[in-house]
Amino acid sequence: GQCITHCPVGALRERDDTEKVFSALADPDKITVVQIAPAVRAAWGEPFGLEREFATVKRLVSAMRRMGFNYIFDTNFSADLTIMEEGSEFLKRLGNKDKETFPMFTSCCPGWVRFLKSQYPDMVPQLSTAKSPQQMFGAMAKSYYADLLGVDPENIFSVSVMPCLAKKHECDLPNMNDAGAGQDVDVVLTTREIDRMIRAEHIVPQELEEEEFDTPLGVGSGAGVIFGATGGVMEAALRSAYYLVTKTNPDPDAFKDVRGMDGWKEASFDLAGTPLKVAVVSGLGNTRRLIKALRKGKVSYDFVEVMACPGGCSGGGGQPINDGQELAGDRADVLYGLDKINEIRFSHENPSVQKCYECYLQRPLSHRSHELLHTDHNAWQMPGEEQ
Ligand code: SF4
Repeated sequence: GQCITHCPVGALRERDDTEKVFSALADPDKITVVQIAPAVRAAWGEPFGLEREFATVKRLVSAMRRMGFNYIFDTNFSADLTIMEEGSEFLKRLGNKDKETFPMFTSCCPGWVRFLKSQYPDMVPQLSTAKSPQQMFGAMAKSYYADLLGVDPENIFSVSVMPCLAKKHECDLPNMNDAGAGQDVDVVLTTREIDRMIRAEHIVPQELEEEEFDTPLGVGSGAGVIFGATGGVMEAALRSAYYLVTKTNPDPDAFKDVRGMDGWKEASFDLAGTPLKVAVVSGLGNTRRLIKALRKGKVSYDFVEVMACPGGCSGGGGQPINDGQELAGDRADVLYGLDKINEIRFSHENPSVQKCYECYLQRPLSHRSHELLHTDHNAWQMPGEEQ
């Protein structure tokens, strides 16, 4: 292992899971289904010295197809699903304002979830019950997608490629096996690990052509891709919350005040007549300051996005390391550029997400959605935590 000095979540020794994935790829009985997280596409080409314009996610797809992955999908799909669930949950909590405690916190960053559980356990009920996009994807791969393929979910080997070390622990948690076929995500690879696999396979990235994701879980919106940057989850959620309330789309850039690399951002919006105050923090130092201010009553918000890594996942602990250079901002620019050119800017307009609700989940917060896509954050304890 290599020592990761900037990992904010305490996972100081890097675990190498590439061998597990190589063996699954070599096993004819295993169907390998892999998802690629938004932030990975903005960084995977850096160690090869590729230009950002060249190192597209479609070239990464092509490299991974050569490695033998059977189905290559996009975590943006389940980021859109997360927005449908979390946005609906937020509106439900808003409708129940007297009984709920605000702000509601996002729950997609396992570094942050662990931090809250260990430091401020009394605030855990304020976390959204929505699982992270990685875990939603895994649960859908071994249920909905297994059905579509007509295969036993036990034969699916579910892999994710993430900018993150904390995700390796998240997939092992006891509450992350809701599809009933082992862990919903079997193995998490970091961006650095997928880069090592490209090298190990003697793939020359400079020679790769662009290839498409598989369908239907390879379809993602621009709202899904900005999950990889600080502020992106909040912006994506507000775009769809606006639609869910008014049945009309806002300007897709209406909530852009939450963009940018500041560690603690605030914004106020009018959600069809309801004033909303939101905050976005990244980095655990900023997070602690925000929580202290909240607890002292110095600030108050309706909805808060928290990412443990400074700059969000684009600056995640599993991304390539470039000698003291902080690239979270440059990588976030790539993601906002991809959002801008995406034909679909809203999670609720993702046709694969719509289809999945129509044929399988029925609607956000349905019984099946709760079973597969939501979780009880108290279902596991931090080491040393009292029962
Ligand atoms: Fe992982 Fe992203 Fe959280 Fe960092 S901010 S710990 S990369 S989920």
